[in-house]
Amino acid sequence: FSLDTGIYTSKHPSVNLPVDPNLDAVSALLSRIHSIDDPTSAAFVDSSTGFSISYTELQIMVKSIAAGIHHDLGVRQGDVVSLVLPNSLYFPLLFLSLVSLGAVVTTMNPSSSLGEIKKQVSECNVALAFTSLESVDKLASLGVAVIRVPESFDLDSVRFENPKFYSIVKGGFMSVPRPLVKQDDVAAIMYSSGTTGASKGVLLTHRNLIASMELFVRFEASQYEYPGSSNVYLAALPLCHIYGLSLFVMGLLSVGSTIVVMRRFDASDVVDVIERFKITHFPVVPPMLMALTKKAKGVCGEAFRSLKQVSSGAAPLSRKFIEDFIGTLPHVDLIQGYGMTESTAVGTRGFNTQGLRKYSSVGLLAPNMQARVVDWSSGSFLPPGNRGELWIQGPGVMKGYLNNPEATQMTIIEKGWLRTGDIAYFDEDGYLFIVDRIKEIIKYKGFQIAPADLEAVLVSHPLIIDAAVTAAPSEECGEIPVAFVVRRQETTLSEQDVISYVAAQVAPYRKVRKVVMVSSIPKSPTGKILRRELKRILTKCVSSR
Ligand code: AMP
Repeated sequence: FSLDTGIYTSKHPSVNLPVDPNLDAVSALLSRIHSIDDPTSAAFVDSSTGFSISYTELQIMVKSIAAGIHHDLGVRQGDVVSLVLPNSLYFPLLFLSLVSLGAVVTTMNPSSSLGEIKKQVSECNVALAFTSLESVDKLASLGVAVIRVPESFDLDSVRFENPKFYSIVKGGFMSVPRPLVKQDDVAAIMYSSGTTGASKGVLLTHRNLIASMELFVRFEASQYEYPGSSNVYLAALPLCHIYGLSLFVMGLLSVGSTIVVMRRFDASDVVDVIERFKITHFPVVPPMLMALTKKAKGVCGEAFRSLKQVSSGAAPLSRKFIEDFIGTLPHVDLIQGYGMTESTAVGTRGFNTQGLRKYSSVGLLAPNMQARVVDWSSGSFLPPGNRGELWIQGPGVMKGYLNNPEATQMTIIEKGWLRTGDIAYFDEDGYLFIVDRIKEIIKYKGFQIAPADLEAVLVSHPLIIDAAVTAAPSEECGEIPVAFVVRRQETTLSEQDVISYVAAQVAPYRKVRKVVMVSSIPKSPTGKILRRELKRILTKCVSSR
């Protein structure tokens, strides 16, 4: 920490990032893959069928699918293509093929509603989407060209059932003109609401993806006593979120790890998958850690013999979960990591050593990253031990929000500092602790929910005059969204009616789970919702029960 500048610098040595301005993220990744020890080892394995793709096959398939997408579908550099897909072996293949063409990929949760898809399609100007059966009609109704992605990876049956997709995958060895991609070009648009307002497109460049691979994943792997290529990761986190995308679709491939892909996290299956595939590393969000601990208590410890590390991120991890986990699986290293969509998941990583185990900390700043802790009333930069808003700076920080210069200016301030909206402090050893959040987002099982998005849905109801959404704590899910609703006086609109109305218009994980009827919404003289006041009312409601 420097008293002069108020800057915390990483305790790790700096990493040299590629300087060539004309480098795309996939070429950067492939150059790393070329030097892994055993290219015949599995890059991806499907947890339900055991089907696998080796590193050699992966490189061939990325080239061949890129050719198929270019020739069959006419995708060109700069085109925006959406992936609305659950986890599968196709997800990374399609992502890497598209990015290698210089196309821009925008991911959507496969459970997204028509309204949510419509917003993203129109904001990002999506021309083409790859999706699973359940979203084909939604996307087609919006005039988007749709390619249905099969569930099966058995290409013989795909050839018969879905010849169009088969032809793309088998794009062959036709050559594709190499796009002139610059590191500064946008490669992906992920969605996040940032510190305030509705969800927005986060513009991540090739440089950001390269930084995430080098600083978030490769650096950590270089700290192990064993090579990263001997690790077997379980990918149960959604690949459509930055946490899963940065780790499993790019980062870990660069160190030659094997990634076992689960379609979705299923607590009843997870022990079997860990045992069957000898999983060594399992990145989770807190509710998954809780479910894993519960399962581990009921089975013999042998099942977890292979497991070396569980890393938790995306939301706060309670002390109770931590103690329960280390009490149940003491041989497994538990760490936390911290990052955000706007930083391409680069932030901090836990770092336990023999003598130093700080489980409640999110760890040390990643290499090349800097931070400030800012007093929100005076604006001064705070030394270790003091809580304030965390700002971070470094090569993972996004280019900005899509078509939203005001939000970009409010979020990236003073020469590239990203306001995180999190309240945090560093201790004297350089370990970061996240203690609260001043931004509006709600984190339900690690997923972001923007209150403003739900408020827009609520006030579209003809019987609702005004509405505001805030979070209530939940042991199982972290937080759940609660709606405060002002209904028309003469109506009998019930809490359940409101819950059902919202549920019909948003992805299941974003639905309102509790409703409080009120006579007015607390607002400032300028009409801003007083969110702290909402939290106070909510606490009063709970304590008066
Ligand atoms: P997202 O952009 O969806 O990844 O959300 C980023 C936000 O998740 C951060 O700004 C934090 O509020 C929260 N977050 C991420 N990791 C952690 C963590 N380990 N502990 C507490 N909060 C976290």
